[in-house]
Amino acid sequence: MQEEGEYNWVVKKGLGKEAKQKAMLAASYYQENKLPIVDIMKLVGNKSKPTLYKYLAIQGRRNCKECGVIFWNRQQEMESAFYEKHFKKKK
Ligand SMILES: [Zn+2]
Repeated sequence: MQEEGEYNWVVKKGLGKEAKQKAMLAASYYQENKLPIVDIMKLVGNKSKPTLYKYLAIQGRRNCKECGVIFWNRQQEMESAFYEKHFKKKK
């Protein structure tokens, strides 16, 4: 499956049961901040790095469009996320 198509499918239809479990597992390993991404891929049983990052994004991992900082916020859109602290500074 082509990456972009897969991404849209995941966003529209959500993840299957197995993928959902993988996503949760990947996020918990990732948030522990001890393992490199390749090791998380092995533990989760995921061979594709973009897919793993999609799983993390579904779990709430966001990349600030302004400065690229990584933060967690499920409420924000994946494609247009901004780190909340920027807004607090501006006030
Ligand atoms: Zn930022």
